[in-house]
Amino acid sequence: MAGLAFGSFLNVCISRIPRDLSIVSPPSFCPHCRASIRWRDNIPVLGWVMLRGRCRECGVRISLRYPAVELLTALLFVACFASFGFTWLTLRSCVFCFLVVGLIFMDAETGLLPHEFTYPGIVIGLALAWLAPGDASGTAFLLSVFGLRGVSSSPELSFLDSAIAATFGAGFFYLTWALYYLVRRRHGLGFGDIALTAMVGAFLGLKLTVLVVFIAPIMATLFALATLAVSRDADNAHRTVHHTSNAQVAEAFLSREVPFGVFLGASSLIALFFGQQIWDRYFGLVR
Ligand SMILES: [Zn+2]
Repeated sequence: MAGLAFGSFLNVCISRIPRDLSIVSPPSFCPHCRASIRWRDNIPVLGWVMLRGRCRECGVRISLRYPAVELLTALLFVACFASFGFTWLTLRSCVFCFLVVGLIFMDAETGLLPHEFTYPGIVIGLALAWLAPGDASGTAFLLSVFGLRGVSSSPELSFLDSAIAATFGAGFFYLTWALYYLVRRRHGLGFGDIALTAMVGAFLGLKLTVLVVFIAPIMATLFALATLAVSRDADNAHRTVHHTSNAQVAEAFLSREVPFGVFLGASSLIALFFGQQIWDRYFGLVR
């Protein structure tokens, strides 16, 4: 239930923050006819189903995004409880899911990853790493490699792990971006993507952030290849030779046709719930 309510609030954020509108006032209204929405039509998911996805006043279609975000947020909250039980880690994970779902849909709809979400997200992620310590084995492993075991108490280690992960994630994509700029004199990723990676690092810790840095570009590249294949088919169905060059894939990234934040967000959710299993199965080194 809490998930549905937060999902409902998230919809307001997704609709308004990229357009620099207040999220508090006015209360929900139809973006088409501006009629304010009655409380019973504003009930998460049910309201949308009762109205059959249309505005009561003007009959314009209400985006499927509204019930989708509400359901997704609720499901993720349930998944957090199922995975982590009644712990502070569940709270930390729920906050993370809330922020990530918001950013995924904002990037998909507007191509923006607003700082109003990512910057506080980084701070909250670091604070929660201290208050709700999670798995910091990545940093513990690093420290042992360097023969250091100084930081032993878990809040400090957890905070250190999150800070390193945020720096590593942001640094990784910043370097990629800077290298690309040096070679091609063109901008690749945006700073929104870099801020989002820092936020993901702060919440997930080093071990899972390493996974995200691997999975997200793979997902985004597959998406780019798929879109290119589809648009090619639509453009010239008569041509039989289909060949997609690396340059075209790079072009799709650069022209922001690939919403990279969506894939960063999606892979960070995969890492949150399945990252430990993936590590255990494929990289037995760090435990
Ligand atoms: Zn309307």
